[in-house]
Amino acid sequence: MTQRRRKGSERKIALERIDILFRLAEREAVAGNSARADRYASLAAKIGMRYNVRLPREFKRRYCRRCHAFLVPGKNCRVRVSRGLVTSTCGVCGDIRRFPYIRERRARRASAQ
Ligand SMILES: [Zn+2]
Repeated sequence: MTQRRRKGSERKIALERIDILFRLAEREAVAGNSARADRYASLAAKIGMRYNVRLPREFKRRYCRRCHAFLVPGKNCRVRVSRGLVTSTCGVCGDIRRFPYIRERRARRASAQ
């Protein structure tokens, strides 16, 4: 089993592309073009998989892993906070995901320095 290691520069470019695609997805979603937004989001996720890069934190929640929809809180996804957890429900397929909230706060505090 040979897994070719990706160079750091390749991964950096991949991350940049993911960033651009999610921004485009956001723009399309705001414009009401959800089909195109979903397409951009799934393309971004695909790039992430190919280059072994994780989706940046802010985008991870904007994308449904199950139905590959670009999620817009208040539009096609419901976000609730309870007992230290952020619960995100996909309005398209109903998939529920939970994220610990405390850890996020800690991370945010650390990165704010
Ligand atoms: Zn979904």
